[in-house]
Amino acid sequence: MGLFSGKPDQKKGDMYYAWTTDSEIEKKAECGGAVTSLLKFALEHKMVDAVLAITKGQDIYDAVPTLIKDPKDLVKTAGSLHCGTLNTAKLVAKYLDGAKGMKIGMTVKGCDLMALQELAKRKKVNLDQLLLIGVNCGGTVSPVLARKMITEKYGVDPDTVHKEEIDKGQFIIEYEGGHKGISIDELEEEGYGRRSNCRRCLYKVPRQADLACGNWGVIGEKAGKATFVEVCSDKGADLLSRAVKAGALKTEAPIPKGLEIRGKVEGAMLKLGEKWRKKDFAALSADPWGAIKKETARCIKCYSCIENCPVCFPVEEKMKGKQYMVKPGEVPPNPMFHLRRFAHISDACVNCGQCEELCPMEIPLAKFSHAIRVEGDAEFEPKLGKSTYTN
Ligand code: FAD
Ligand code: SF4
Ligand code: SF4
Repeated sequence: MGLFSGKPDQKKGDMYYAWTTDSEIEKKAECGGAVTSLLKFALEHKMVDAVLAITKGQDIYDAVPTLIKDPKDLVKTAGSLHCGTLNTAKLVAKYLDGAKGMKIGMTVKGCDLMALQELAKRKKVNLDQLLLIGVNCGGTVSPVLARKMITEKYGVDPDTVHKEEIDKGQFIIEYEGGHKGISIDELEEEGYGRRSNCRRCLYKVPRQADLACGNWGVIGEKAGKATFVEVCSDKGADLLSRAVKAGALKTEAPIPKGLEIRGKVEGAMLKLGEKWRKKDFAALSADPWGAIKKETARCIKCYSCIENCPVCFPVEEKMKGKQYMVKPGEVPPNPMFHLRRFAHISDACVNCGQCEELCPMEIPLAKFSHAIRVEGDAEFEPKLGKSTYTN
């Protein structure tokens, strides 16, 4: 059976509450296990050759990408890891030959999805070979900051925490002997909470995936036990239709009030994103050159920002050819090292935050490149619209 065949009962634009019929998946899943069941079904029925998903490594702060070929192993990927700040797009390009030789099912956050699209433009990834299950994303918390926040703000030893979740605007932890939730607003006012790129992100429901899945809007007795699924493509409709027919998962129509709530929460998150953009970019606009010069003076030229940027290939290729970006042997490098990189990615920065997250010198690189991208879009491509494309 091919990746896309048959006439689906479900169609693009449909919305459902969905949950798994597999009790093992249900136990481990975040909100009813529809996502894991869909990926398992796709693998079992050879709609894909492998699944790229995220699994818990050493602890809840350690999100590990994993390629799964045996459907029974998929259960270990169930559950949401909010300290999973990684971006999976470059992995597909770098280690899986851009999915050119195999069909891959993937769970994607908005920034994973946009990075895949940028890579497809550069012919580094073949989107036709991918089956993309999008997860709504309110944001992720850096693992290092999460441990600090749990120690200082929650007064809990981070090593005793066995579960975290984000629910109703709170970051909630479960640990040996109790649980505690603190509002994200309060955490962020005090410098904890989501990564700064996530605060500015406007891509909350990844509607360019095949299915967009999340918990916003699931109310009533299914709250916490089902996932809200929005069908975004014919490929997604086909997968959902076949999985439901085969009994891998169940669906029901969403409660109208739930639909309304989902719309309101998404709207509120977009407003919050706009607020953070204003705040971050206003602070920068007073003296952008000065800010870049001052912050990048800590650079040790480790190249982590280049290595981990999902859209930064040509620079890497140039470096292999020994055409250096700046004069070798100087640390910190001339600020042009950074300006050349910003110029090179400025039309494509998806604000995934990898550069900033993985910079050992804590230079706010994502803020700089995101500001350039947003200003460039507003100046030269205003019709693209913020929430439709730019993260
Ligand atoms: P499961 O069957 O439990 O499957 C979860 C899938 O997510 C697995 O495939 C797993 O590999 C993958 N995953 C886990 N962590 C990550 C990660 N860090 N990056 C990429 N993939 C990951 N829904 C909302 O409505 N609002 C939100 O604000 C929201 N924020 C989220 C933030 C994150 C970081 C994640 C991962 C999910 C978020 N979701 C949000 C989606 C929600 O938590 C559930 O994932 C969704 O409802 C599907 O539930 P499920 O039981 O069907 O998924
Ligand atoms: Fe989620 Fe957006 Fe942050 Fe990516 S940048 S992790 S999509 S909030
Ligand atoms: Fe410099 Fe940080 Fe980039 Fe390393 S990751 S090269 S320290 S800016």
